[in-house]
Amino acid sequence: MIRKEIIDLFKVKPDTKVRLKDYHTGWEQTDELKSAGKKFVKERANEVLQTSIEELSECQQLLYADDRYALLIVLQAMDAAGKDGAIRHVMSGVNPQGCQVFSFKKPSAEELDHNFLWRYMKSLPERGRIGIFNRSYYEDVLVVKVHKDMLEQQKLPNGKHGKAFWQDRYDDINAFERHLVRSGTVVLKFFLHVSKEEQKQRFMDRLERPEKNWKFSLADLNERSYWDEYVDAFEKAISATSTKWAPWYIVPADDKWATRAVVADIVTTTLRNLGLEFPEMDDEQRALLEQARQTLEEE
Ligand code: ATP
Ligand code: MG
Repeated sequence: MIRKEIIDLFKVKPDTKVRLKDYHTGWEQTDELKSAGKKFVKERANEVLQTSIEELSECQQLLYADDRYALLIVLQAMDAAGKDGAIRHVMSGVNPQGCQVFSFKKPSAEELDHNFLWRYMKSLPERGRIGIFNRSYYEDVLVVKVHKDMLEQQKLPNGKHGKAFWQDRYDDINAFERHLVRSGTVVLKFFLHVSKEEQKQRFMDRLERPEKNWKFSLADLNERSYWDEYVDAFEKAISATSTKWAPWYIVPADDKWATRAVVADIVTTTLRNLGLEFPEMDDEQRALLEQARQTLEEE
């Protein structure tokens, strides 16, 4: 387990005005870690990832048996920050039946004809399951805020799209998440925080290594030219929507091993803290089981 003080570094407390440059993108999160050295920290992180993966498998079974809660994991990031890899690693031990991943792309014509939360609402995890949103309703206050023409496509009745408009969207998101939490869905939100330099390296890698060429998209390069606008949109969105009931975690993403260990640990710790239990049998149920056992024995 990663120490609570370290996890607390990533958690955005409600009403914090987030400035992303105050959050490190690398593994050297504290002086203590820095003096321990990269090799040591990486080994520890990999151990944490391994134990978390094993534990998560048990936690997911319990989540299912307990049948009171669902877990929604929201992943947001700049391109190439490692969302896919984080999902692949963190969820590698989980029973596929207990977990569902939805990747949200540009909305379809049908989706655009509904309110902006509609398509996400349809994909929420049911009780007992873990649902992952690879991109989410937050895109509607991120990419849609950066590219205002996307908002035109949503054909909203009120033509004003100033500060108040975005504040209304943040309020809607907070209310939506509050509703989810009240209904038993735990909401965990991760911003994978990659630096502009590291993104460049990863794009270069995709261009230079033939087996990675397929991952490169010219559209990503275009979005990179809006880096500052995205930073601003993320800062405003995270500041406005990190709540007591659905906090944001800003996770360093320049070192993939660090991202994965932190995400895995936060997910497992959260599930462990729910106090999940296997359902207890009462006397009547136990008697029925005993009867069933006898029936089988007498066959
Ligand atoms: P990868 O590139 O790793 O396969 P990705 O999540 O980047 O995964 P893409 O198909 O490359 O997937 O991009 C999806 C695009 O859809 C992103 O540019 C994203 O901003 C956009 N998108 C997602 N949700 C919305 C939304 N609600 N409105 C407009 N655009 C959206
Ligand atoms: Mg992409």
